[in-house]
Amino acid sequence: MRRSQSLVPTLREDPADAEALSHKLMLRAGLIRQLGAGIYLFLPLGQRVLDKVNAIIREEMNAIGGQEITMPVIHPAEIWKQSGRWEGIPEMFKLQDRYGRDLCLGMTHEEVVAWLAAREIRSYRDLPQIWYQIQTKERDEARPRSGVLRTREFLMKDSYTLDPDVAALDRSYGAHDRAYRRIFDRCGLRYWVVQSDTGMMGGLGSHEFMAPAAAGEDEIAICEGCGYAANVEIARGVPAPPAFPAWTREEVATPGARTIAEVSRLLAIDPRLTIKSLLYIGKTSGPVLVLVRGDHALHERKLARALGQEVRPAHPDEVRQHLGAPAGSVGPVGARVTVLADEHLKDGVYVVGANRDGFHLRGVAPGRDFDCRFADLHTVTAGEACVQCGKPLVVEKAIEIGNIFKLGTKYSVALDAMYLDESGREQPIVMGSYGIGPARIAAAAIEQLADGDGIVWPWSIAPLHVYIVCVNVKDQAQRAAAEAIYDACRTHGLEAMLDDRDERPGVKFKDADLLGIPVRVTVGNSLVKEGVVEVRSRKTRQESRVPQDKVIDAVHAIRATESRN
Ligand SMILES: [Zn+2]
Repeated sequence: MRRSQSLVPTLREDPADAEALSHKLMLRAGLIRQLGAGIYLFLPLGQRVLDKVNAIIREEMNAIGGQEITMPVIHPAEIWKQSGRWEGIPEMFKLQDRYGRDLCLGMTHEEVVAWLAAREIRSYRDLPQIWYQIQTKERDEARPRSGVLRTREFLMKDSYTLDPDVAALDRSYGAHDRAYRRIFDRCGLRYWVVQSDTGMMGGLGSHEFMAPAAAGEDEIAICEGCGYAANVEIARGVPAPPAFPAWTREEVATPGARTIAEVSRLLAIDPRLTIKSLLYIGKTSGPVLVLVRGDHALHERKLARALGQEVRPAHPDEVRQHLGAPAGSVGPVGARVTVLADEHLKDGVYVVGANRDGFHLRGVAPGRDFDCRFADLHTVTAGEACVQCGKPLVVEKAIEIGNIFKLGTKYSVALDAMYLDESGREQPIVMGSYGIGPARIAAAAIEQLADGDGIVWPWSIAPLHVYIVCVNVKDQAQRAAAEAIYDACRTHGLEAMLDDRDERPGVKFKDADLLGIPVRVTVGNSLVKEGVVEVRSRKTRQESRVPQDKVIDAVHAIRATESRN
């Protein structure tokens, strides 16, 4: 690529509307442009990164027996009605054709795979199968954000396994787990494999691949002692208990104190001796009073899972209606609603709201002074003890770069994807589903490896290998030397960009750093007469003077060192 003729629109300043580091740098390096909310174009260098990531994905998917196919973006409503997912997914883009028939834009392809399997798989001899595609997905996100991390249209590698039974599914799942680790290793990412919530996919189990990064929307709890790692949506930890005083149960006046902080201050007690009472409305169960320790946060996904339904916080008027007190004064004693308490409230005595404005109850023991069911409800925080080994947990923000699900037979039963087993009996095909976001891999690599000057691409997914700066394009000797190096790169399998613009050297150097291409070769004034150029590693910033005819060797030497790391 010649820079003078390429679409690489770099920006000197951070774009005002970008917060995530990867979003800023992808815009500034001219990798992407935003067409609308959560809708992006990939420009030539961005496209090259995606192509490299996809090539690695294809190699590893093919290595486990994956067969690439292409499924449509437009789906008829019928298959989604059969699986029961036509209603209830707000992110689904729905449309009608000119005859008024319902269609949707594919956000995932379990239904299409089950439809295909129902037609093409006959017997156990046809199994197992691994089908995958790298294709555009559409999701009507409520809040698209963080650049390419949460968008309404995105590329995804999705694969699906078809197996005769759960034991075979376990093998297909294991093969994907290993393939995914190889893919992310080759892309140069740091990541954790964590247990996760199966959410809208349903099924027998799932794991997420999480790349730690400040821009991540997920939080993961990690134990460096035993390797326990889980999304905070399901992560369990053991919080340190407070020292419980020998309280007898009594009502105490707490005028004006509503929040946990205010109540603890007024009563001069550890906030861990208080209970937060929150009224939620379950979709089918109605009001539920939810209790967590004063210093803890409720995790709504855990609550929804414990209740087996979707939930929402009650409005202030609903709190008064069901409990007869304002939100800051409610409590479980005498409440005429179902009470669900975090499992760590089983022991001890606490201060709770008295369902009376201006008063709290001190010395209340859950289970003794009111009936309740216990469940894991609180959001794990850093420092809680690991449930497996007792060491303190670490909590990190992370980008979900991949996920794997054991679906079971939910979709095959719904879409009649059956096979005949060895004794001629009809059985539902056991399915798995597996996703990777190529753009998220690119963003995660930027987040994890960038420095103050810009992107630092790992060799494996860098858009190009060498950035050649011709300091003065009007100098014939420099120009000729730069062109010769550019040609030599091509003949030696190195992808190069020649910065042949009539710009100040400083502008070219800044751009080279911003773009993050692993090696910069500078063809400059004084040295070129001696046949010498400068070769610089973007990652280590080490620079050396190299005879022009040794440039290719020098680049290969840097590559050999850096792509091993
Ligand atoms: Zn542990």
